[in-house]
Amino acid sequence: MGLTIGIDVGGTKIAAGVVDTDGTIVARTHRMTPALSVDGIAESISAAAAELIDKHDIEGVGIGAAGFVSSDRTTVLFAPNLAWRDEPLGTRVADKIGKPVVVENDANAAAWAEFQFGAAKHVEDMVCITVGTGIGGGVVVDGQLLRGAFGVAGELGHMRVVPDGHRCGCGARGCLEQYASGRALVREARALAESGALGAMQMMSECGVTDPADLTGPMITEAAQQGDPCGRELLDDLGRWLGEGTASIVTMFDPSLVVYGGGVSAAGDLVLTSAQRAFDRTLPARANRPHPGIALALLGNEAGIIGAADLARQR
Ligand SMILES: [Zn+2]
Repeated sequence: MGLTIGIDVGGTKIAAGVVDTDGTIVARTHRMTPALSVDGIAESISAAAAELIDKHDIEGVGIGAAGFVSSDRTTVLFAPNLAWRDEPLGTRVADKIGKPVVVENDANAAAWAEFQFGAAKHVEDMVCITVGTGIGGGVVVDGQLLRGAFGVAGELGHMRVVPDGHRCGCGARGCLEQYASGRALVREARALAESGALGAMQMMSECGVTDPADLTGPMITEAAQQGDPCGRELLDDLGRWLGEGTASIVTMFDPSLVVYGGGVSAAGDLVLTSAQRAFDRTLPARANRPHPGIALALLGNEAGIIGAADLARQR
């Protein structure tokens, strides 16, 4: 197969790219996401794809969507942030554009991109943990993306790490996502600021805000990079949760490499160092087994497009 299209459906933007067999994006376009309209999203995805199909010889289309996707890769079963419920998105878009279409979970698509073309291209067994607002996961075993019986394997962000912990958007309590995600970082920063802690006050002034509600993840990361002690401590905590969660995940899948992607990779060593330390301390039987490597993702926010496009080649 030659060129395929990868489409990353985000909460605000639909990003589409034409991708070659080396994982290089050779053309791109985008549309805004009409988040509340199921028909509107299918229309916008189809329009972005049609624009690219007009100018390139395209053999298939892969759509990366944040949600549970059926094992036959046609239907979004459930999406927490968009209006999809049992939505036959793949079939709908295929009918409009006249090309084969597959739908993939967005974190699986990102993991696949890192496996084929990025940080994990030299290994056969890897786990990718995508830490953004929430936490997504993708697992590759023996060179194959792990899909599970119903298509929803690898939801690593919803592994329970704290009994009776914080309530999660999935309905359960104590999920890893509630402790090691961008949303968790902001929740902790705001709570610290509302407590009146002096360090948090200094961090707010570093960030240029006076109301704790105005703090954002990128602001906190920026403050930490400038050396702010409170920001550093918050990222250190996030890294510790992430490293401990990684130890449990490694116990299940025995990868040779764990890749951290998503917005957190912007924080680099500020998270990686504490994650690595917590991982090394927490891994069961740590003295009696090989440890996998832990690395940051290489493809940034293009991983979703590249991975979805490449998975459109896998029939
Ligand atoms: Zn959850």
